[in-house]
Amino acid sequence: MPIFEYKCNNCKKEFEKLVFAGEEGKIPCPECASVDITKKMSATSFMGASIGTCGSNSPKQFS
Ligand SMILES: [Zn+2]
Repeated sequence: MPIFEYKCNNCKKEFEKLVFAGEEGKIPCPECASVDITKKMSATSFMGASIGTCGSNSPKQFS
């Protein structure tokens, strides 16, 4: 179960959230309940993505 970092575009609050499959994209800000948030790419996941997903059909995806 990955923990992602998010930043709210409404109140600018940054927070971490444990995200279950299917929940991504509809996570409300804990401060203002806005769903207008941006997922921050961590260094490790960014590197994993750049190395492991050169093709579009990589089996190694977050789920
Ligand atoms: Zn907010």
